[in-house]
Amino acid sequence: MTTLGRPLDDMQKLVSLSKRRGFVFQSSEIYGGINACWDYGPLGVELKLNVKKAWWDSMTRRPDIEGLDAAILMHPLVWKASGHVDGFTDPLVDCKKCRNRFRADQVSSKTCPNCAGELTEPRNFNLMFKTFMGPVEEDASVVYLRPETAQGIYVNFQNVQTSARRKIPFGIAQIGKAFRNEITPGNFIFRTREFEQMEMQFFVKPGSDEEWMEKWKSWRHQWYLDHGFNKDNLRFHQHGPGELAHYAKSAFDIQFKFPIGWLELEGIHNRTNFDLGRHQEYSKKNLEYFEESSKEKYIPFIIETSAGCDRSLLASLCNAYVEEGEGDDLRTVLRFHPKLAPIKIAFLPLSKKEELSGPTMRLQEEFIQDMKTQYDDASSIGKRYRRQDEIGTPLCVTMDFDSLNDKKVTIRHRDTMAQDRVDMTQLKDYVAQKLKNF
Ligand code: ATP
Repeated sequence: MTTLGRPLDDMQKLVSLSKRRGFVFQSSEIYGGINACWDYGPLGVELKLNVKKAWWDSMTRRPDIEGLDAAILMHPLVWKASGHVDGFTDPLVDCKKCRNRFRADQVSSKTCPNCAGELTEPRNFNLMFKTFMGPVEEDASVVYLRPETAQGIYVNFQNVQTSARRKIPFGIAQIGKAFRNEITPGNFIFRTREFEQMEMQFFVKPGSDEEWMEKWKSWRHQWYLDHGFNKDNLRFHQHGPGELAHYAKSAFDIQFKFPIGWLELEGIHNRTNFDLGRHQEYSKKNLEYFEESSKEKYIPFIIETSAGCDRSLLASLCNAYVEEGEGDDLRTVLRFHPKLAPIKIAFLPLSKKEELSGPTMRLQEEFIQDMKTQYDDASSIGKRYRRQDEIGTPLCVTMDFDSLNDKKVTIRHRDTMAQDRVDMTQLKDYVAQKLKNF
């Protein structure tokens, strides 16, 4: 992939492109929007599905990983056992003057960053959304919207292990919504209150955990590289003793260089036997694993890889965004890896006349079973190429009047803008080859 061009320097450019071209819209926009909630438009939903499919396949096609789809609402004791009821809190300060709220660890002085008013002492604020199950709104019917998908995996550890007849080591992968009442959401879809996670929990024998941690660090890093992420935009950050979560023996973040700085994309955690141990204690069910070969019983250790789907999508947009040229010659390109590109090929007849539009549509029909395509006959061919560049379509197929005689079409490549003339009978093979060997 070529790397020429200017990278994204201002998130605002991406916010407006996302709205203009239908990647991401503000939620409930016609009502003035709702803070930190976003909707995915026609291209955004394709991109998101492609991110999820790429992740899902990379996990569940492995012979040692099973998939799961657990409910969002879970028994309230799950969150007691996990430590979320007591410990999933952020320290919060209020401004006595303008009433704004801040995370205590994000303000550096005792005065409000907004109006310089006096701040209250920090109070702990639980980030879980609460609701009620059933018709009566009382303490006994409180349930939580899950703040992470991981717990659905832990409580199903034995179900999966026995039904899939798994031996340790093995993993369980899940994609799903999570909710956190974040105090300081923002930066577009970077931190939202409703988001999707792609989590994989790998169950290992105690003592082998550090070795598996290293393997998963390397595999997850490689996954981003395999999907077009520039290696200079990725790095590891190791959690120091002060940052480590209560359950973790060691933790690394994969960080991405967003235009707003290096920030967490994914967490890779050695969660020890904390989670299964706690669920054993609270559920009073024996969650030990019996290892046939050694006749040993133990509670497995867990290596977790926890990625944000929305954040991966945002990073894939930032990573792909390039500007070339200036003024009227400005070309904005999203250089997505073809696997992630929402549209793989655009079919463009040089003229709107039936003579060309009919055969172009028929050619497009040959592809719609295999991939997402688009047909566009509005405005000049140059403008149409620019539109496809801006939404990251790797290939454009143009049919002109010569095509009717020589049965060839022009293929135009997004990144190099090079054009090839290809025989229509060979188009399928040509496209398959190009999208594969990108
Ligand atoms: P942070 O410190 O940024 O709040 P975290 O360390 O609490 O994040 P984890 O609990 O490890 O995050 O969650 C795993 C992944 O889920 C994160 O790496 C991120 O990609 C995603 N994620 C977490 N919180 C949010 C959020 N509010 N909005 C979008 N994605 C999120």
